Amino acid sequence: MMKSIVCREPGKLEFSNSKKPTPLAGEVLLKIRCIGVCGTDIHAYGGSQPFFSYPRVLGHELAGEIIELGEGVDLPLGSAAFVIPYLECGQCVACNAGKPNCCTNIEVIGVHRDGGMCEYLAVPADHVVISEGVSYEELAIVECLAIGAHSVSRANVSKSDTVMVLGAGPIGLGAAQFAQVSGAKTFIADVNPERLRFCENEFNFDAQVDCKQDVQAQLSILTGGDMPTVIIDATGNPKAMESTFGWLAHGGRIVFVSVVKADISFHDPEFHKRETTLMGSRNATKEDFEHVVDCMRTGKVKSANMVTHRTSFNDFTKTFPEWVKPESGVIKAIIEVG
Ligand SMILES: [Zn+2]
Ligand SMILES: [Zn+2]
Repeated sequence: MMKSIVCREPGKLEFSNSKKPTPLAGEVLLKIRCIGVCGTDIHAYGGSQPFFSYPRVLGHELAGEIIELGEGVDLPLGSAAFVIPYLECGQCVACNAGKPNCCTNIEVIGVHRDGGMCEYLAVPADHVVISEGVSYEELAIVECLAIGAHSVSRANVSKSDTVMVLGAGPIGLGAAQFAQVSGAKTFIADVNPERLRFCENEFNFDAQVDCKQDVQAQLSILTGGDMPTVIIDATGNPKAMESTFGWLAHGGRIVFVSVVKADISFHDPEFHKRETTLMGSRNATKEDFEHVVDCMRTGKVKSANMVTHRTSFNDFTKTFPEWVKPESGVIKAIIEVG
């Protein structure tokens, strides 16, 4: 038997007992070691996540130990691995175009099917990446960093770019760090002064932009009037997203990585005069995941300092409601499974 944490309905988490799974052909069984808590989990718990059905075991940022192999799988038992939680169909127009991250039939572990807030999880072996030399805790935040890394690769950021990342949450911090890895001059922007102070103390971005002040004026000074050539939005705020059209350099690119349940509009002359490129960024590819682990291993990105809160599996149902409150100051929280 094993224990799982089930989100029975919005606002209600409880433990449940179920049979320990057996890996099917092509699957591996993971003993879950660390689980990253994500905005998606918070929205699912809060009831504001579209396309979500209950009851559901949450958790898609997963690191564990390979303890059993299904038929036809040849991976070293006992290795530390993380999970790529996006299960693609392999046959649709997007999959055929090499973009399984936006598969038309995508199923995300912990969103569309039961996830990893449990002791053992069977997953397809080709969605498990073995990564020695990185702690379980770091492996549990690879997914959230990979989303940021994907937004940077979408915009094809290079060292000639000036990138502004809007929103200093875990995704934004990931995006900003990978923009730096690409050699770009990088600014991070937020409305929350505590977040900006955190960025200043913990990271080495070229500037912090205070969104409570005149953003246009700050960017104009920072760029000598040119404005950022790339703006990546990780706020999940429609107003912020709409503002990006007026803050961009001529010839620049905007990437929306956060998703909102709203219409976004822009004034066409603003869009047109810049010959703006607007892109969505969804999930991440295997290449993004590999890039993230590589950068972790070589110390090119900081991840440990993004983990601000930790709890044990047994305490999670009590701790989580506290973390959901904005005043908790959570950037990234981790559940350690004993
Ligand atoms: Zn996530
Ligand atoms: Zn597909």
